[in-house]
Amino acid sequence: MATKIVLQHTLRATFDKEQQRPTALDVHRWIDEVLKIKDDELQTIQLVGKQNAAYLKFTSSANYERYVQKHTGTSVVELLNGATTTVKITPAEDDYVSVRVLNIPPEVPNDRIRNTLQNFGKVLQIENEKWSHRYRYKIDTGIRVVQMVIKQSIPTNLTISNYEAYITYPGQEQTCFLCGSSSHLRHTCPKRSVKMPINAVPRTRLTFSDILQTYVNVTTDLSEDGIPPEICDVPGPSNMSTRLVNADNQNKPVKTNIENE
Ligand SMILES: [Zn+2]
Repeated sequence: MATKIVLQHTLRATFDKEQQRPTALDVHRWIDEVLKIKDDELQTIQLVGKQNAAYLKFTSSANYERYVQKHTGTSVVELLNGATTTVKITPAEDDYVSVRVLNIPPEVPNDRIRNTLQNFGKVLQIENEKWSHRYRYKIDTGIRVVQMVIKQSIPTNLTISNYEAYITYPGQEQTCFLCGSSSHLRHTCPKRSVKMPINAVPRTRLTFSDILQTYVNVTTDLSEDGIPPEICDVPGPSNMSTRLVNADNQNKPVKTNIENE
């Protein structure tokens, strides 16, 4: 197998193929006037026609870090001939992914989402997803798209500002609905077996040590895997089925959007 080449401290700017292609002059002007990158901070500006992309390689990681968080995302570029085109800036590293966060109302600020997702990797940018040109209203879908480098897999269900978010991203591991662990699924979750006698009508009387055991398990897991505390507030089984149905419904906008990309 060939050694994998990693693009170091490089940004990729991908211009929309449906819109007018910028010239090399346009790209240079945009880097200077809009991105405001100085001569000595850039090592290479490489245009790749097939991808309709420009690769901006920085002279050092420090220089790259200065711009990556600031510029990652989608924006509009004005061309010299007066036309405009859309550009998407992402890190050129392969380990970067777009994480989609569903079921969170628009009132919840992006900072809350950032705070939660930072436990799982490096958050670069959060954008509001929009309905594509195919739809009547080209407004927000309510889905947040978080560009991040994942260091630890994110569970499919996370609580953010008291709302149960549904998380999806390419290559996501299947995780337990109850505790977020990837080592088992919900029906074999250890937290479920501990919690059930308390939620249901007890068949046998709980002793003090049973209750203590429940408490110990929850707190131990918290410190071990760093999962936010809200995820451990496991509701009763009747709540569970409702939430599953909701999660299914929310898959519809996901599908339509993938089609459009
Ligand atoms: Zn579990």
